[in-house]
Amino acid sequence: MKLIILDRDGVINHDSDAYIKSPEEWRPLEGSLEAIARLTKAGYRVAVATNQSGVARGLFDLATLAAIHAKMHQAAAAAGGRIESVFFCPHAADDQCGCRKPKPGMLEEILRRYGAEARKVTMVGDSQRDLEAAAAVGCRPVLVLTGKGRDTMRKGGLPPETLVRVDLAAVAAELAP
Ligand SMILES: [Mg+2]
Ligand SMILES: [Zn+2]
Repeated sequence: MKLIILDRDGVINHDSDAYIKSPEEWRPLEGSLEAIARLTKAGYRVAVATNQSGVARGLFDLATLAAIHAKMHQAAAAAGGRIESVFFCPHAADDQCGCRKPKPGMLEEILRRYGAEARKVTMVGDSQRDLEAAAAVGCRPVLVLTGKGRDTMRKGGLPPETLVRVDLAAVAAELAP
């Protein structure tokens, strides 16, 4: 079983410091949907793990988040890919939950649900917290330079096993040549 875990904002879609609060604000990055399709066709199961503290902040509710994800699922499907599952943390940074990245809870849950062996699973993110969560559970962290990725690389201090790739399309091309 081949599993890949993707962060959402800055990896699949354009990020915004003002949060993605509606389906209209969710816009795919160039090439990301085709990358997901490429992974799907190569037999990868694609799961998304995303921090959505905008829920805790009252910026959007769970129904809106579901609508945003429905748009994302449809967009991936229209490109010939499949996002199999979306896991999200709705909590704020000070909620002390175990699921908000860089905490490992969300990735642990995904690995458990899929019965996947962490060291065989790639986790793609654009933020330090994605990479730290991946490293904490033993997944392979890959930093992409879309979204906050360039800032993340500039700040340094990445988990030592982190790979850096230009974008999700480059990751897909490497995993599914
Ligand atoms: Mg991100
Ligand atoms: Zn949480």
